[in-house]
Amino acid sequence: MIISMALHASKEQTERVCERIQELGYKVHSIQGEERVVIGAVGVGDVTGCLEQLEAMPGVESAVRISAPYKFVSKEFRAARTRVRVNGTEIGGDEFVVIAGPCSVESESQIMETAEAVVRAGGRLLRGGAFKPRTSPYDFQGMEEEGLKLLRKAKQATGLAIVTEVMSEGDVDLISEYADILQIGARNMQNFSLLKALGRTTRPILLKRGMSSTLRELLMSAEYIVAHGNPNVVLCERGIRTFETATRNTCDLTAVAVLNELTHLPVIVDPSHSAGRRRLVPPLSRAAVAIGADGLLVEVHPCPEKAYSDGAQSLSIPGFEGMMQELKPYIKLWTESRVAEGAAAV
Ligand code: PEP
Ligand code: MN
Repeated sequence: MIISMALHASKEQTERVCERIQELGYKVHSIQGEERVVIGAVGVGDVTGCLEQLEAMPGVESAVRISAPYKFVSKEFRAARTRVRVNGTEIGGDEFVVIAGPCSVESESQIMETAEAVVRAGGRLLRGGAFKPRTSPYDFQGMEEEGLKLLRKAKQATGLAIVTEVMSEGDVDLISEYADILQIGARNMQNFSLLKALGRTTRPILLKRGMSSTLRELLMSAEYIVAHGNPNVVLCERGIRTFETATRNTCDLTAVAVLNELTHLPVIVDPSHSAGRRRLVPPLSRAAVAIGADGLLVEVHPCPEKAYSDGAQSLSIPGFEGMMQELKPYIKLWTESRVAEGAAAV
């Protein structure tokens, strides 16, 4: 924090501000200037509250934050990439990780057929919603625990780890029994009591960016989870709301590059919800590999035209296989650059 005193603030006023900084649990790092005094303060805590109090003190002209409000998830806190380990796979490591599966779990044959196709094509984790956050209360809400049981069956058959969504705090324990990664949907990115509960679990978290959230807000939500005890968070760009109507959302690929500068957490891209249309998924996926994402979250369905949710953006099984094939040369380049980055860091 930088606290600038007013031009003719008294020595006593400056002293009182320094005392207050210390009372609030921060350290006075430096005091500069003769006529106009500028105080630098450092520490961790409720910086916003502290700034408001200091700004209200006599003799203070302004009090501003100079560092990012998130700490644990920042690159400054930890330069090396966080590798989230799940079932023998590392997200954020030297492998580009593809997570694929249907939007919703609908039946045993649907999830089994998809899981077999995903593993055959080189996907590492199986996604599938059992608890669905639908905009309309009349839309399919998910198979709930029945769906979780089917995901478990698919895991037993294929060895694929499971990613599935948790919508409320009360479901965290139940879903953790079945899932290897807990997905937090865009609509829940700022459900702070849920984020705190996720901090207390041992399961890795896949945190999707809210559709109207800034990257700072996304990082603050990740900070909630990490600050409450769970360091295994993967961020997911899934498209944001803009004025554009040609796509369901606007895929903010720049977010990947920005997040890679700001945080050590892995970042993946969901091209399906970003685009809303299946033919846009392969080109967006290629771009996600090229910009340095750590993986993809893709919707795949054995019969998209009959899907209970998000059929228009779901790849068919041959479509997914074709895309995985097409991505190979891009992933080869990605792997070479990741390995070179690792070697340069040693
Ligand atoms: C989903 O992954 O199916 C989903 C509901 O995503 P989002 O929260 O990004 O809308
Ligand atoms: Mn979906």
